[in-house]
Amino acid sequence: MTVPHVILKSKRAQPFFAHHPWVFAGAIDRLEGEPADGAEVDVHSFAGHFIARGFYNSQSKIRVRLYSWNPNQALDRDFFRNQLEKAIRFRELIGLRGPGKGCRLVFSEADGLSGCTIDEYSGWLGVQFTSLGIAQRREMIADVLDELIQPQGIYMRTEKGVGKLEGIDIRDGILRGQPPTDDLIIDENGVRFRVHLPEGQKTGFYLDQRDNHLAAAHLSRGRSVLDAFCYSGGFGLHAARAGAASVECVDSSENALALARSNAELNQLTGIEFVKADVFAHLQARVEEGRKYGVVILDPPKFARSRSSIPEAIRGYRRLQTLGMKLLEPNGILITCCCSGLVTSDILEDLLAQIAVHEKREVQILAKSGQAPDHPVSATCLETAYLKCFISRVC
Ligand code: SAH
Repeated sequence: MTVPHVILKSKRAQPFFAHHPWVFAGAIDRLEGEPADGAEVDVHSFAGHFIARGFYNSQSKIRVRLYSWNPNQALDRDFFRNQLEKAIRFRELIGLRGPGKGCRLVFSEADGLSGCTIDEYSGWLGVQFTSLGIAQRREMIADVLDELIQPQGIYMRTEKGVGKLEGIDIRDGILRGQPPTDDLIIDENGVRFRVHLPEGQKTGFYLDQRDNHLAAAHLSRGRSVLDAFCYSGGFGLHAARAGAASVECVDSSENALALARSNAELNQLTGIEFVKADVFAHLQARVEEGRKYGVVILDPPKFARSRSSIPEAIRGYRRLQTLGMKLLEPNGILITCCCSGLVTSDILEDLLAQIAVHEKREVQILAKSGQAPDHPVSATCLETAYLKCFISRVC
């Protein structure tokens, strides 16, 4: 088989020999052949050695996304079937996939499938194709998914801006089967949540927080809990179920709060207060009222989308954590989450230390965790590590 070749510049091959899957335009010396966008190409070192095989895209900053390091492996249906099957069977093996559950079946680069994310909610799939090569092969991928797990339906979700960055022209909508006629319901750690596949945030639910929801709940029993940025109630409902003395859920989105309220009803959890407000303003107002809580959970949206926005993002995390600390009674629990991959665990730790000194509080970090195991981190593509969750005692 001969496919067009992408020849790297001298001394630029190391990351790709080390199995990083993104070849940026700046690393490329020249093309041999004329690959169409989305077509298979072989990446060679400047010295002419085969490194890996991937899909080309002249419209993306990531010129080639790599999928196989085996020169005898074509990127055909069998290859994708095998990759998808491995990813899905692993979730089954660790008990995360099953009837009535919600699970990320495929997590892009972390599962060797750059640009392909697949979530399962009670037998339905929410898929996101964020690379052109994968998007072009969506019917083949849907066929394989039908073969492997027979989903009730497959719904495509797109992320704002990504289509343009990659030159992908697809819209949200059904790819296979029928859209669900009602909200889907998933069970997470024994708490039930509605997932609105076509319109929910992200691909419908923050599955990555599954273990952190539970860890926070263990510390919430008998305490007053503030769940800031609550979305559909992930942290707040787990805390209420674990026996929190009171729970206040805050979000600026009416849709999110409506979903959270109906999830509370679904689980027959009463006494949760739902507040529609900007979290920054709400926390400030609570500080001025002199309110104190036993547990404060901060799970904001992604603040840093590019390197240039890191300083502003850090200011946002600083402000939130400062307010969170002010609101905690002695021995309170501060749970801070950060889903900006560009803001590292070290940065957050440093921030906590600075705020502790400024607020004259002693802070002990009890646990540092990340995303749930159906969102694994690829050791050769550390960009797949994005979620941080610090659980701290604030004395
Ligand atoms: N904690 C949730 C996920 C939070 S996602 C869970 O575990 O499922 C982030 C949420 O923050 C979204 O619901 C969004 O509507 C909300 N949000 C974003 N900016 C906000 C702001 N300034 N004030 C209040 N809510 C905000």
